[in-house]
Amino acid sequence: MRDITAREHRQLRQPVVFLPDEILEIRVKCPNCARVLTPDWLAKRPPMGTVQATDGTMLRRISAYVRCQCGADVPLKMPQIKERGAFHLFGDEAYRISARGHEIVTYVLVGTNPKNLQRNLDDFLALKKNLLPDRDPQSWRLHMLELWRKQDRSKSALFSEIAMPAVVQFVDSLFRFVSQEDRSIQIFAFPAIFGLSADAEMRKKNLKEMKRSVYANFLFSVFRKVCGSGLRPLITFEADEGKPIAPHWARDAFFGVQSNLLYGWITGGVYVPPLEYRLPLQEPMLELADFAAYVISRACDFRIARKPLDLDDQKLGSVFYNAFYPNGDLYDGHAKGFPFNELYP
Ligand SMILES: [Zn+2]
Repeated sequence: MRDITAREHRQLRQPVVFLPDEILEIRVKCPNCARVLTPDWLAKRPPMGTVQATDGTMLRRISAYVRCQCGADVPLKMPQIKERGAFHLFGDEAYRISARGHEIVTYVLVGTNPKNLQRNLDDFLALKKNLLPDRDPQSWRLHMLELWRKQDRSKSALFSEIAMPAVVQFVDSLFRFVSQEDRSIQIFAFPAIFGLSADAEMRKKNLKEMKRSVYANFLFSVFRKVCGSGLRPLITFEADEGKPIAPHWARDAFFGVQSNLLYGWITGGVYVPPLEYRLPLQEPMLELADFAAYVISRACDFRIARKPLDLDDQKLGSVFYNAFYPNGDLYDGHAKGFPFNELYP
């Protein structure tokens, strides 16, 4: 992902909708006129995170300024989190229209620490080998949409010969794999459920808007969680349409999230490198993100329809979920199974 130009920065929108509780009490006092000020956390600013200079030096922001009505710039000391390592995150997206006429957009990031990455990768490829013993597991891609339902599987060049019990066994092995606590696999997910607009043109426009919003708020929440624990998030998404570059809207969201005081505060100076995009088959860990996104998205769909789940998202283990409440506020928390009934009673 290339860096942003000044012109592009001027056109960015600030997409974050969430103010964490811990910042609501923060005030600064103007030394000039003694007014007590509440920082405007979401007002657009130049990028507020740590930046890497061309020679590799990291430039951390020690303080920012809050403009007082009297004209004085009042310094605000920024948190300085000690960076103690990196954390890999592999992302995918799932989209479906529910039987009840809702659109469900789900973003997932599957994370692992660098120490366990190779072991996780090897073990995942071994599980794939169990499903198709005669093929090199790196030569084919796990795509749940093609594997899970019988009617889709029968049309698949890869999976049509596999019987349901073998599919279930494979999927259960993946559930066990991602939910084992000692693997340090951590799943982050943001399923967002929207009403469907009747007008086709409106629908296309709304979908674009909502994807942008879900994606940006998801990134924000993941940065807050990962940087907050002193880890540098190394994020890889699957590239669309055979081009290993970030889509325009994804770049907007990535840089838009950084263009406010809040970003500087929640990342605490931990550097967030630009996102990477890889083609399918270049990065097998992206297939685990496809798996989790399919499970979570399908579980949402079934819960809306009040049908029993055929893929239980509780089996993913503890997942860090984000969601929009019906009033538009952001939910975040760990749960086994998406807490659908709590959020949408
Ligand atoms: Zn003042």
